[in-house]
Amino acid sequence: MKKVLLHSCCAHCAAYTVSHWRQQGYEVSALWYNPNIHPYMEHQHRLEAMQTLAQEMSLPLITTSGYDIIDYFRQVVGHESERCRYCFRLRLSKTAETAKAMGFDAFTTTLLISPHQKHDLLQEIGNELAGERGIDFLYADLRKRYSDSRRMTKPLNLHRQQYCGCVYSEWERYANITIK
Ligand code: SF4
Repeated sequence: MKKVLLHSCCAHCAAYTVSHWRQQGYEVSALWYNPNIHPYMEHQHRLEAMQTLAQEMSLPLITTSGYDIIDYFRQVVGHESERCRYCFRLRLSKTAETAKAMGFDAFTTTLLISPHQKHDLLQEIGNELAGERGIDFLYADLRKRYSDSRRMTKPLNLHRQQYCGCVYSEWERYANITIK
């Protein structure tokens, strides 16, 4: 059976995505690497939710050591309006690198289920990294299953985030603005 490493941004996006790739015949493991989630305690709440889901779904979960918030800011400061490109690259690059080092056949991300993410950009960066690292990037447009995924996690009563992750997105969400 082929093995895929699934970068997981949160439990709510992971639930259906894991089922999808299992249905496609993959053995799925998840990777937690999200230094874009601020502040730190919000990161911890989302990680705890992911750990609960992993237990419920018998999903192996690899948690990277450290919280590379400094790397995140070093990459995005000065490019705030384009920050998602740097953010996706940081997270997917770690996923591709880990997948290659641990003998996975492919990598992918739960971000592909979210209608709130820049879908084409994710696909572009995933494909670029696949070429650079020599490992397959699994692509699927799962956006129509976003609500199904949330229905799956509802009975677990997990922490639900109110904004994408970074402090910029928190500001945009509550002040109802767009950073330019
Ligand atoms: S809005 Fe979301 S995807 Fe974009 S940089 Fe912030 S955390 Fe990353």
